Amino acid sequence: MAREDAVDLREKAVDVREGSATSREREIRAAELTQETSDDQISMLRQANAQLVIATIEAHKLAEQVQTAKIELDHLAHHDVLTGLPNRVLLYDRLAQAIALARRSGKQLAVLFMDLDRFKHINDSLGHPVGDQLLQSVSERLLGCVRQSDTISRQGGDEFVALLPDIDHPEDAALSAQKMIAAIALPHRIDQNDLHIGASIGISIYPEDGPDAETLIKHADTAMFHAKENGRNTYAFFEQEMTAHAITRQSIEASLRLALERQEFVLHYQPKINLLSGAIVGIEALVRWQHPQHGLLEPAEFVPIAEDSGLILPIGRWVLREACFQARAWQDAGFPPITVAVNTSALEFRAADFLEYVRATLEASRLEPRYLELELTESVLMRDAESADSVLHDLADLGVKLAVDDFGTGYSSLSYLRQFPIDTLKIDQSFVNQITSNPGDATIVSAVISMGKSLKQRVIAEGVETAEQAAFLLGLQCDEGQGYFFGRPVGVAALTLLLQAGVSPAFPN
Ligand code: C2E
Ligand code: MG
Ligand code: MG
Repeated sequence: MAREDAVDLREKAVDVREGSATSREREIRAAELTQETSDDQISMLRQANAQLVIATIEAHKLAEQVQTAKIELDHLAHHDVLTGLPNRVLLYDRLAQAIALARRSGKQLAVLFMDLDRFKHINDSLGHPVGDQLLQSVSERLLGCVRQSDTISRQGGDEFVALLPDIDHPEDAALSAQKMIAAIALPHRIDQNDLHIGASIGISIYPEDGPDAETLIKHADTAMFHAKENGRNTYAFFEQEMTAHAITRQSIEASLRLALERQEFVLHYQPKINLLSGAIVGIEALVRWQHPQHGLLEPAEFVPIAEDSGLILPIGRWVLREACFQARAWQDAGFPPITVAVNTSALEFRAADFLEYVRATLEASRLEPRYLELELTESVLMRDAESADSVLHDLADLGVKLAVDDFGTGYSSLSYLRQFPIDTLKIDQSFVNQITSNPGDATIVSAVISMGKSLKQRVIAEGVETAEQAAFLLGLQCDEGQGYFFGRPVGVAALTLLLQAGVSPAFPN
């Protein structure tokens, strides 16, 4: 029994051992199992964490990108792509702010509206890439002319607006305008070419010329238009009287495009008179625009815009054609043949097919070339004298007459003047104006008359308004005159009556 008991006990002990072994194993297993699980979880957690970090960084990056895109978009919305200058939107913003500030402090500010002279011509003849570079060069020059606190903006095309938010006197604005014009006038080196361009500037002052951004800009634009009329490359202050006439440039340009097809242009003709006999020796065709809203417009109100926009080309062709056909019609009606003069702009004169168009028009109208005279200004002739020389000789070979218009207001090289096949010098009316009262003007006119005679050119005085002027000119051996005294520019019917009389009504029969 003791043995049996002992066996039993041993067996039990074994059992216990075995049992505890299993339970330990279970424990160990369990422990191992938990170990495995927590490793997995940690790595998962780590992974998740890493992803979160990446996502966060990415989100940051995205946010940054969105921010830069926003800034870029904002910049784009407020700046001009080509020049990087503030655009119209930003200008209005700054102008509105500046006005508010000036109102509170009782100060003045100036708006300068600038338009390049004949930019369209450069763009068309040399190509848009050159035009773009020129605009960039102009914008750099402009920035060099103003203070940090001033704004130079591009309005589009060849229009720039400067805001001078703090000036002491309007003269400060005039000085800035002069500086800008001078800076732009210096040659622009582009593609190994020296390009020359002028600028016209209109100035409006707050508070005198308008209470808000829109009015100030509109009035500066109006003044710019007047600066262009006054011979370009100059500036003008806005004056209230300008508004009576102020049809904005934009509206003119828009309706100018339609004017040809709507047949709104008409020609008026002004007689040229032999000062001794009063006989009508020629007529000048002067274009008018019968505007549907604004009435009969003079060339000063639309020709500069037509020149800048290139529209002068089709308009000039219409004028030439109309004048040639009308001159021929008068001949066909039995009037003695007289010369019809047509004004020719730079753009027309430089067009590659100008000569051909003149020839074709003469042929179509059956007008003999010697009865057509082309009037060109000194600047048209002298700007590129070499190429002008060859065109002029071609025209002269064709038999067409050539006149220098507004002589004395530009710069003529005398050697070219001798070399060009010029028939007529037209002394500008500004010299004739005060010829009886200003000895200086009388001397100049007298000198031009003798020079013309020695070069075998006819000399005609423009803008003769009084009998005294006519008599004075005759005393200086001037042969011909044109002006209100002898006859204003009139329509076909009135000129037909004049041709029937054959002499200026200023001359008693
Ligand atoms: P312009 O060729 O020198 O023409 C003379 C201008 O003086 C004309 O002005 C004429 O009406 C004006 N006038 C004539 N006599 C007198 C006078 O006694 N006193 C005053 N104060 N003025 C007088 P308009 O018709 O307004 O033309 C102005 C300019 O416009 C012309 O100057 C010419 O350069 C340009 N123009 C006129 N018609 C055409 C055209 O068909 N084509 C082009 N490209 N330009 C034109
Ligand atoms: Mg003329
Ligand atoms: Mg003239």
